[in-house]
Amino acid sequence: MDLFEYQARDLFAKHDVPVLAGEVIDTPEAARAATERLGGKSVVKAQVKVGGRGKAGGVKLAATPDEAVARATDILGMDIKGHTVHKVMIAETAPEIVEEYYVSYLLDRTNRTFLAMASVQGGVEIEVVAEENPEALAKVPVDANEGVSIEKAREIVAQAKFPAEVAEQVAEILVTLWDTFIKEDALLVEVNPLAKVASGKVIALDGKVSLDENAEFRQPEHEALEDKDSANPLEAAAKAKNLNYVKLDGEVGIIGNGAGLVMSTLDVVAYAGEAHGGVKPANFLDIGGGASAAVMANGLEIILGDPDVKSVFVNVFGGITACDEVANGIVQALQLLADKGEEVTKPLVVRLDGNNAELGRKILSDANHPLVQRVDTMDGAADKAAELAAAK
Ligand code: GDP
Ligand code: MN
Repeated sequence: MDLFEYQARDLFAKHDVPVLAGEVIDTPEAARAATERLGGKSVVKAQVKVGGRGKAGGVKLAATPDEAVARATDILGMDIKGHTVHKVMIAETAPEIVEEYYVSYLLDRTNRTFLAMASVQGGVEIEVVAEENPEALAKVPVDANEGVSIEKAREIVAQAKFPAEVAEQVAEILVTLWDTFIKEDALLVEVNPLAKVASGKVIALDGKVSLDENAEFRQPEHEALEDKDSANPLEAAAKAKNLNYVKLDGEVGIIGNGAGLVMSTLDVVAYAGEAHGGVKPANFLDIGGGASAAVMANGLEIILGDPDVKSVFVNVFGGITACDEVANGIVQALQLLADKGEEVTKPLVVRLDGNNAELGRKILSDANHPLVQRVDTMDGAADKAAELAAAK
């Protein structure tokens, strides 16, 4: 889960990374009081989960509370690389910035380690530095068991060739930033710029944090950081039901068991759809190996609730959970929905194969539900589902 800058700022502050005061607001008028609280001037910063806000006009200085209101008016509602600005942070202005650096920690999956990155050429997009001037970006592996002690931090600082007068400060910041990374179960913490101001002090002026959702169970405070406003409502509803669902922009609803099977189902449906006016999959939904009738009902409920869906393709390969159980699940799921008064009006194409396929197919045939059709091959079923979606 990626965080907004203001949330990253709060986590940094919690772990003693030096940051400037700031608060988040969502109406222009609120910029006035916030700026007054900061002593009359502020930086107005768009809160969007994308970099390059400065260049796009999403970071503006305000010399007075009135100006802050004007800048907040400009920035709220602005579109930055496809992200609409719903919130701005009103932050304390940095005293004159003298130098801009870059530091980050991330999980380096390829090398199965953590990685520290640091550069004295910060402020700009680090991808550009890595591309044009790779020797200016130090990359130092960090052992998960050893972490970043002050000695390790000094090693990173030395490799990145930080100027002597800020070296010890930056090393100390690297230790507090490591604390943030580990204690918050982050996959990425990045500071860009880490700015040296006129007094010689070094401050984190912009932060990016991505949290590991697999650690949610031991990070109860992280739930509050979720951006519920911009979450797709179907994805939010699916998440609440513990379903692995991703909304896509097509017309054929997809349910399958196993992520690999569902991925290939998306491909097969997209391919079949080309012959039917270009219909596409409407979602990814993996109901997992041991899917019960209740899980099938939850999945169907989400998919049938998607107004874009015109037909549904249920693609199941029986394994540990045999096809007869899945077939019963589908029949019971349709009954459950009917009992809840949720009328099913969209056609379902079901393909069952694998363990106990014959029995499963018989259960579906016997149930004889008017909207359910059986097609026994994956390609054939994908074609049928695409055809039905196109006909609607
Ligand atoms: P980004 O463009 O999305 O990475 O947003 P940043 O928060 O990094 O801001 C972009 C640039 O604006 C920084 O590199 C700084 O040069 C400048 N900036 C950000 N905050 C302040 C501030 O408080 N005072 C001043 N003078 N400049 C700032
Ligand atoms: Mn930045």
